[in-house]
Parts: sequence; structure tokens; C-alpha cells
Amino acid sequence: MEPSQSKSRKERSFRERRSTVDTVSQLWDAMVVGAGPAGCAAAYDLAAAGQSVLLLDKHDFPRPKACAGGLTMKAVRALRYSIDPVVRQVMRRVQLEGADSLHPDPLSTVLQSREPICVMTVRAELDEFCLRKTIAAGACFRRISPVRQIVRSGDDVHLLTDGALYRARFLIGADGASGQVRRLCADGSWFSRGFALEVKTAMPKDGSGLIFDFAGVSNGYAWIFPKGDHLNVGVYSPSSTAGVTRSRLLGYVKARLGTDAVDHVVGQYLGIGAGCCQAEDVQPDLRDRVFLVGDAGGFVDPLTGEGIYGALLSGQAAAAAVLSETRGAGAAEEAFASYLADYRHTLRFSSRAAAAFYANPARGFRAMRFPLVRRTLVRTYTHGLNVKSLAMRIALSHC
Ligand SMILES: Cc1cc2nc3c(=O)[nH]c(=O)nc-3n(C[C@H](O)[C@H](O)[C@H](O)COP(=O)(O)OP(=O)(O)OC[C@H]3O[C@@H](n4cnc5c(N)ncnc54)[C@H](O)[C@@H]3O)c2cc1C
Repeated sequence: MEPSQSKSRKERSFRERRSTVDTVSQLWDAMVVGAGPAGCAAAYDLAAAGQSVLLLDKHDFPRPKACAGGLTMKAVRALRYSIDPVVRQVMRRVQLEGADSLHPDPLSTVLQSREPICVMTVRAELDEFCLRKTIAAGACFRRISPVRQIVRSGDDVHLLTDGALYRARFLIGADGASGQVRRLCADGSWFSRGFALEVKTAMPKDGSGLIFDFAGVSNGYAWIFPKGDHLNVGVYSPSSTAGVTRSRLLGYVKARLGTDAVDHVVGQYLGIGAGCCQAEDVQPDLRDRVFLVGDAGGFVDPLTGEGIYGALLSGQAAAAAVLSETRGAGAAEEAFASYLADYRHTLRFSSRAAAAFYANPARGFRAMRFPLVRRTLVRTYTHGLNVKSLAMRIALSHC
């Protein structure tokens, strides 16, 4: 079909649907679809800067969210407010486990630091806390029914649901890895999905540390995260669901913790691919008005499965881009690309690292036994030293 035919068909179906809506919303400076970490990060900065912001989600909060709720210190620092009230544990020690055909016994190494490495939260609690902060900053929150259509109208964007039409100058898509905004606005050829499953189980009497087990799943890892009164145990793979199954997870819990008393298994996709995404991947008529952030924009780190940091960073970048155009400091589209260029570079690097590591975890695990490699891991993954700065430090240390 010719592009002009498809455009006029889209306009016709929009006019038909629009005629059935009950509510037409005011014109907002920005609307944000999805009130997880990415959406709240964007809405918070916009509201705090005095913009009118409509934050939309298909759920009321608190709502459950499959997530181990671990925040690295770079994520904690990226937040605009303290999350101390919802931190369950602060971790200074992380145990890494693996298998190596050259060694009969399982291998284990420890990342340890005087400074915290990460903090443990429960996602339903964290997300409700962040939403409250965002509403207190001035954002207006509304629950919506499914998003049906998104179109450009003059300088504005219109979003149609069953029953309502919302209008804003900018739209930020933060509705997660399976969300609608990307499907409606972008060519998703750059987008891929990881997968993770988790369960909640009782804390053993003698307690437990934080463990990543690279022998627990093929092409991924298993984790055990302590949350004060319980453990969150899960399995992750960046590229396929093959090793990440309910029976694999339950078998792992039984083998490691000797129990089959678990809460129900929950799983979700993770959005990967921002390293390969260009602004041109959003369709031409929406490119300067719609920004995809968090899992919706593929901002999960494929090597580790960490997505909260990418969600915060990209959400804040979208807010800064909108503010840049509003204040006459440059087009939002260009500002968004420029704010995220370094992180997209880091994600590209991470994608190559994930392919090499998961193809032969024993080799990668052997490398992790060198203190320099472990220190580098903590600096990059925990504290956010990006690939360019890391390369610069290595070069300087050889001068
Ligand atoms: C099992 C598991 C464990 C994980 N553990 C960690 C971890 O320990 N640390 C870490 O950093 N990352 C972890 N991740 C990744 C992390 O959960 C995500 O990267 C992060 O939640 C992304 O935030 P987001 O705001 O982009 O999306 P989400 O948190 O998914 O939020 C999207 C929001 O959009 C809403 N929504 C969806 N569709 C619509 C719609 N059509 N209309 C309106 N609203 C909609 C949803 O209700 C939701 O509130 C894990 C993921 C999984 C699956």
C-alpha cells in the first residue's frame, strides 16, 4: 500500500474512533504513558520544571510488577529524591557463582566494597513511592483503558483510548517492554526482548547474601536477592526463553534452598535494543513529538538485565529534551538523541559483551577472578563509569 493511502486510512479510522469518545482532555505540555520508573522519572522532571504533565497508566497503584527490585548505586544517584523509606537492605557484598569444565567444583568469587554496591527494594513499594513523589511534584495521574491510536495533529499529539481523547505537545512512551506506544509509533526492527521469571520465598533461618549464579541457567543467570523478611529468586536470559522456564526456576529453588514453598511464579519481558535504535526508528510524522523510554525504548542492559537505571536515565533525557524545545534551546528530537548518545554506546558495548559472555560463561567467569576485572565491574555496573571514560582511564594508566 502507498504511504499516502495508509495515512488516509489511518486518519479515517481515527475520525471514526474519535466520534465515539466521551472525554476530550485539555491540551497538556506533555503526556506520559506508563507510570513505572521511566514514566515517573520523565513526569517528575517536567512537573518540577512547571510543565503541565498528564501521567497515564492502565493500573491503579500499588500494582504488582515482576522485578527483583535491585537498584545499583548509579540508579539510586539518578533518582531526584531519597528512596530510603522503601529500601529493604543495603548490599556491600555480591557473590558470583559459576561452573567451569576445567574445575570439578563450582566456582565462586566475591565483589566487595566499603561503599554500598546496590540496594534492595520491593517493586510494588518502590513504584508507589515514586508515583506519590511525582504527583506531589505536580503531575496529574489518570488510569486509562487500552491505547488504540496515536496521531499527529498540527504541532500536537493525540492519543485515543476506548472512551477518551488525550492531547499534548509531546508524548513520552514509558509503557514497558510489551507496551502499545512503540507498536503504534515505531518500526520495531531494532527491538528485542529478554525474559525473566521470579518467585518469592521465605528467608532461611541463617539468612542469605546476594547471589548471581551463572551456572544456574544456560544463556543467562539465576539470582537470589535478600529482602529483609523474604528472598526473591529468579532466572534471566537476554536472548531467549529456552533456559528460563517455570520448572527450571522451581527446580533451582529446591536445589539451592531446599524448599518448594514459593509464592506463584511471575515473569515478564525486558526491552533490549536501545544501543541499535536511531531517532529515525519512530515514524516520520511523530519523530519530533514522541520519545520512547525505559523498556519501551529498549534501555535494559542485556548483559545484566538491569533496567531501572536505563529507565531513569532515558525518562529524564526525554524530559530534558522537551524542556530544551520549550525554552527555545534546541529541537527536542536532537536534544533527546544527544543526551542518550553515550548510554546507547555503552549498551552497544554491553550487547557485544553479553553475546561473548553467555556463549562461554566459564571463560568469562575465569576472567572475573582477576581483582582488576572485578573492580572494573563494580565501577561500571554499580557506579556508572561509562565505556568511553573506562577506555580513557585504561589508556591513561598505560601512559
Ligand atoms: C523478573 C524481572 C526481574 C528484574 N529485576 C531487575 C532488577 O533487580 N533491577 C533492575 O534494574 N531491573 C530489573 N528488571 C528490569 C526492570 O524491571 C525494568 O527494566 C523496569 O521496570 C523498566 O521500567 P519502565 O518504567 O520502562 O517499565 P515498567 O516498569 O514495566 O512500567 C511500565 C508501566 O506502564 C504501564 N503500562 C503498560 N502498558 C500500558 C498501556 N497500554 N497503557 C497504559 N499503561 C501501560 C504498566 O502498568 C507499568 O506501570 C527485572 C525485570 C524482570 C521481568
